[in-house]
Amino acid sequence: MKSCFITKEKADEIAAKYPTPFYVYDEKGIENNLKDVLSAFSWNKGFKEFFAVKATPNPTLLKLLKKLGCGVDCSSLTELMMAEKLGFSGEEIMFSSNETAAEEYILAKKLGAFINLDDITHIGFLEEVAGIPERICMRYNPGGEFNLNNRIMGTPADAKYGMTRTQLSEAVKTLMAKGVKEFGLHSFLASNTLGNEYYPELAKVLFRTVKELQEETGARFVFVNLSGGVGIPYRPDQVKNDIYEIGKGVEEAYNEILPGSNIRIFTEMGRFILGPYGMLVTKAVHFKHIYKEYVGVDACAANLMRPAIYGAYHHITVLGKENAPCDHVYDVVGSLCENSDKFAVDRALPEIEKGDLLAIHDAGAHGFSMGYNYNGKLRSAEILLKKDGSFEMIRRAETPEDYFATFDFMPEFRPTKG
Ligand SMILES: *Cc1c(COP(=O)(O)O)cnc(C)c1O
Repeated sequence: MKSCFITKEKADEIAAKYPTPFYVYDEKGIENNLKDVLSAFSWNKGFKEFFAVKATPNPTLLKLLKKLGCGVDCSSLTELMMAEKLGFSGEEIMFSSNETAAEEYILAKKLGAFINLDDITHIGFLEEVAGIPERICMRYNPGGEFNLNNRIMGTPADAKYGMTRTQLSEAVKTLMAKGVKEFGLHSFLASNTLGNEYYPELAKVLFRTVKELQEETGARFVFVNLSGGVGIPYRPDQVKNDIYEIGKGVEEAYNEILPGSNIRIFTEMGRFILGPYGMLVTKAVHFKHIYKEYVGVDACAANLMRPAIYGAYHHITVLGKENAPCDHVYDVVGSLCENSDKFAVDRALPEIEKGDLLAIHDAGAHGFSMGYNYNGKLRSAEILLKKDGSFEMIRRAETPEDYFATFDFMPEFRPTKG
């Protein structure tokens, strides 16, 4: 069973002020989850979570995460600019990019962020455009397959990210010669993992590599960045990861491979931090009875793209009908001229009536942020449901003026005043 953090009454109250569709985030859930993350890794004195901004780039949510002790993981110029505007200091910013533009390295260097080098050829590029900092992180790609419990979890050999093992050794030597004093090591080998083993297994790979590199080159490593990849149970039959088990698994690997060291553990989780604590609320507006039964809602794949591009499952609650029998089978669809625009296919749900509000679960990360404007559709508002039960708009919905803003050099699209 999946529970819903919002009631029909609260959703109606929000919808009266901010028309559907809208995203809603659960402040209480976010805080409790983050307390668990910090406490699961409290055995490591220097632990820090750098929230992956691309998952949910909302300033109010980033400020909330900052207050709770998080840094940010940025991957682009605008994400760095957002971090700067929100007052994240250099030590609180990780810059994990790839195919990086000069202006991005320049800003990351100026902010004093941890720069995570995706490739050995970026050493010369970074030096040329921004200069080499005294402290740097390197992204490792071990190649081959990444297996967990005899299951292929990822194929690093096919991934565009990171450096080979041989390149890592060479990069460390080159960077030391260019004045780097402190190193970090990063890798991201599997996405949305369930089962608690991913971080501990990845940690073993990275800890061993750090040990080898230290022995080989004399370099000083000060942190290991486990990146993202800790998953959430999108389906009701999946089991939630236990962050305490994950933290304990990493601690065991640490004590085994790097005993007595004071290497800091960093993470860049996005999905695990916010995924379950955001939902897309949308209204049932049309019903269509052809070869299948369709419920048409006022959101579409432009608001939440994961089902359309990955065939991803997102659980749906018909608000106010939480306990009603799921004795109807529907395709829940949006209005794009694109047949993949279906939030659910052949889904057993309670009988849906016109005006019912549907809550689409687990959209708090890689949800709104993947939105786009196909078919001229506009992005929705984002709402924060606060601990005291009140709510606040944390992003307004787009208007046609926003959609036309990049044509403002043409008189017919210039915004009209007043
Ligand atoms: C996307 C990304 C993350 C976050 O991934 P999640 O699946 O949300 O945990 C972290 N680090 C990097 C470099 C990423 O690209």
